[in-house]
Amino acid sequence: MTPTRDFDFIIHLEQKNIDNFVQYFQDGYYCDKDAIQDAVKRRSMFNIIDHASGFKADFVVLKDEAFRLEALRGGKAARIIRILPGKDACLYCLQLYREQKNTFIDIPDDPAFPTLRNECNNPIRPASAADLKLIASIASRLLIDHIQNKAGNANHWIWTTEAITGTPLQTPFQLHEQYIGPHPQCPYCHHDKQMHTTIPVEKLAFMQQEVAANPTIETGGVLAGYITPDNEIVITNVSGPGQNSVRSANKFEKDIAYCQSFLNDVYKESSGKYVYIGEWHSHPSKDNRPSGTDLKSLSDISWQKEYLTNHPVMIILSNTGDPSCTVHPAGKRYYFSPLNVASSGKEATN
Ligand SMILES: [Zn+2]
Ligand SMILES: [Zn+2]
Repeated sequence: MTPTRDFDFIIHLEQKNIDNFVQYFQDGYYCDKDAIQDAVKRRSMFNIIDHASGFKADFVVLKDEAFRLEALRGGKAARIIRILPGKDACLYCLQLYREQKNTFIDIPDDPAFPTLRNECNNPIRPASAADLKLIASIASRLLIDHIQNKAGNANHWIWTTEAITGTPLQTPFQLHEQYIGPHPQCPYCHHDKQMHTTIPVEKLAFMQQEVAANPTIETGGVLAGYITPDNEIVITNVSGPGQNSVRSANKFEKDIAYCQSFLNDVYKESSGKYVYIGEWHSHPSKDNRPSGTDLKSLSDISWQKEYLTNHPVMIILSNTGDPSCTVHPAGKRYYFSPLNVASSGKEATN
């Protein structure tokens, strides 16, 4: 046993867990809580020394970011991924892209390549040490560039030593780079980003007039608009119910053909910018909160591909015209979205 032997640990430690962590090292160790707090704040390192053995352990506090390296096709290709939370696609996002055959480049196995079996009969892919060393050094280079803020915008790199059939990777010995952002349907990347909604004052007034004219029954229609790059919902157009709608004291069913033709017109007039974005209806009472039926119907819409949105918005007006606004993301709980009423609907065309 050599008393100078050191250990390195990479840990993920947050401020709130420091007290717990320190408790493990109260007796017999050098463990300075202030130093640990400082290291967590600055994402640097601290050490703990065992007085009896003289063992020193260095703890490197992990930043909230990760790099991942996968050797593919027996080391003849490699995929390197960077994950900065909130900026880059996470592993779940990548899985969604992969399933939807969108953005993510799948690297097929090389059918000519042998698969060996180990003593437990598990498949092993042989790879040359030179290939693996090269891949590791490319990944290290990217990591160092990232730490020194010299990395470009890419977060996804594929290295290949051969052209791979069925992929865009046709040039050997080249690093293919891509930026892949969070997937719109990823529940992990979007869990706390709640969308705000804006509506021009005259569109809200249009709905309120509909309600004033029909105070004892439900009425409604569809909402069209767009999503800004900052993930805000902007409503530009509001339809009426249509002649063949079903309207009663406890039920509203829009005239689907009418609403579709309304949306088609809006789409054409805006040169393809304004699309279906959600639904509105009224309640012939003071209660503008979504009912169980409302929640179910919006949840269904969020999953249906024909509607082109996975987070439809719903506006419900009370019988006095007081609006509530909710957003219904597919697979997640709905939430109330702050509704900004814009004084002038410059963008509105209808
Ligand atoms: Zn994600
Ligand atoms: Zn309702």
